[in-house]
Amino acid sequence: MRATGPLSFHIVDLPSAGVTVRGEITFAQLEIPPDGLFSFPHPVHYELHVTPVQDGVLVRGALRSAVVRLCDRCLDPCERPLAVTDVCYHLEHVDGKVIHLTEGVREDILLVLPSACLCREDCRGLCPTCGENRNRTRCTCEQAEVDASPWGGLDSWRPPLDG
Ligand SMILES: [Zn+2]
Ligand SMILES: [Zn+2]
Repeated sequence: MRATGPLSFHIVDLPSAGVTVRGEITFAQLEIPPDGLFSFPHPVHYELHVTPVQDGVLVRGALRSAVVRLCDRCLDPCERPLAVTDVCYHLEHVDGKVIHLTEGVREDILLVLPSACLCREDCRGLCPTCGENRNRTRCTCEQAEVDASPWGGLDSWRPPLDG
């Protein structure tokens, strides 16, 4: 077996014990572009074991990387590890052919991208009034809001006793 490209392998002379391939592939090569939420400064490291089975090959192994995602509350970037430890692709009738694992890896990675993220459990988020990151600055908006509220005076108001 020999590599013909990133995550592409020509299936020839595959020993019965299989072959382990290790390497890395970028998110750009996987056609996963960065967006407003995610950026991908690290490649995906793969370690895959390709074994011949009766009707083709079995590919098992693991993928590891780390991505940067914005915190849901304060929008600070936080790095999150990614791992897929149960990669399993079964490809049929591939003897003498080139197999492409990019699509499978792409789907596996997309499934483990974090759907929620907090930079820390007690992230205080952004002030809705002035936009300050409350983890870093203690703005005075909250206090000013309470003072300026038309209902602020109600706290001290008591109905008059009428008899
Ligand atoms: Zn945060
Ligand atoms: Zn504020």
